[in-house]
Amino acid sequence: MAFESFGTMRVNEVGHLEIGGVDTLKLAQKYGTPLYVYDVALIKERARGFKKTFEELGVKAQVAYASKAFSTVAIYQLMHEEGLSLDVVSGGELFTAMKADFPAERIHFHGNNKTRQELEMAIDYGIGCVVIDNFYEIELLADVLQEKGARMAVLIRVTPGIEAHTHDYILTGQDDSKFGFGLTNGQAEEAIRRVMANEAFQLIGLHCHIGSQIFETTGFKLAAHRIMEQLVVWRDSLDFHAEVLNLGGGFGVRYTADDQPLPPSEYVRAIIADVREVAQGNALAMPEIWIEPGRSLVGEAGTTLYTIGSRKEVPEIRKFVAVDGGMSDNIRPSLYEAKYDAVIASRPLEEPDETVAIAGKCCESGDMLIWDLPLPKSYAGEVLAVFCTGAYGYSMANNYNRIPRAAVVFVENGEDRLVVQRESYGNLVQLDLPLY
Ligand SMILES: *Cc1c(COP(=O)(O)O)cnc(C)c1O
Repeated sequence: MAFESFGTMRVNEVGHLEIGGVDTLKLAQKYGTPLYVYDVALIKERARGFKKTFEELGVKAQVAYASKAFSTVAIYQLMHEEGLSLDVVSGGELFTAMKADFPAERIHFHGNNKTRQELEMAIDYGIGCVVIDNFYEIELLADVLQEKGARMAVLIRVTPGIEAHTHDYILTGQDDSKFGFGLTNGQAEEAIRRVMANEAFQLIGLHCHIGSQIFETTGFKLAAHRIMEQLVVWRDSLDFHAEVLNLGGGFGVRYTADDQPLPPSEYVRAIIADVREVAQGNALAMPEIWIEPGRSLVGEAGTTLYTIGSRKEVPEIRKFVAVDGGMSDNIRPSLYEAKYDAVIASRPLEEPDETVAIAGKCCESGDMLIWDLPLPKSYAGEVLAVFCTGAYGYSMANNYNRIPRAAVVFVENGEDRLVVQRESYGNLVQLDLPLY
């Protein structure tokens, strides 16, 4: 095979790319393009894999889907079916969870600037916990809780000062971060004191998230180790006993053949080994371990189908092949220089005979999906399948140039199911108020 396939992806009898037992050309024809296609079996496999690893290790755990990666009613329902918890970071994501009837007690609320209205909504829905990010939020949440005569379980987010090896823009674990309380500069301790002193809070533990698209276990182990050692200190000095240690997400996925992520279970095993070591060495009760995978649950399960349109050849320099989407459905290449791989859906095994640049249709020179893609000579009307677009694609989709957002379809066992409709031109002007 010319490409390494994900999940149930294969080349079918007629030589077309097939996902979940469904021919991708048929999907493109039925639903139009651009189209996000999700391999449901692969999502389930990943969800079960994380859960099983904890079970095998005999560790109490929660696996929370970091839903900013792909937030829709259908995926929330699927994650609920799989017994996962859910991270939300906004009122909009929380509302989506409510629409999906996601059990409130398994929802965790993140974010560095939750508004009063969002916190009220979270309390009213009865969510499981709020991850407190900063001093302002301690005051704000305490105020809202007092007003409502309610209590809330909270985690305190700390930044352990670990730099994960990944793109700078998506680094969140180092000291110079907008997220969380510094572990080493005294802020985390001050936050714990204030939260413990307030009756409205039930402080259940700590949270940290060291970054994204991480391929090594080193960063996770270091972070877990540092926090656990600090927990020993705070047990003795503050009488603080963390029931929960949430170590975030960020487990890497394979966007291209250059990415070599470990199996998700490896990260979990490495983390647990370190936490156990410190716990046992210091007679500290083993905390419940929570993790928050986003892209590793849904990234590789997603494939975007586009229709190829115009072609522009700049002699000696570049061959541009444009598709009917771009930064409107996948802004990551423009934002992070993210890399992707792709094939022509009708003949994925054919040998490439040129290197092309896949351009989007938006009015931005930076609207490129792939800069250097080896591909057989392609023609207008053919379907291009871009791999590993399941995370931060649809969730970052936008209406730049008033391009309607693409539809989303789930495929499994030879069946396809539309889970997000394509936006219509009518939808685009729905909120516009005419002057006359
Ligand atoms: C973004 C984020 C995640 C998920 O990151 P992935 O790279 O998608 O796994 C988990 N936890 C927190 C706090 C995050 O901000």
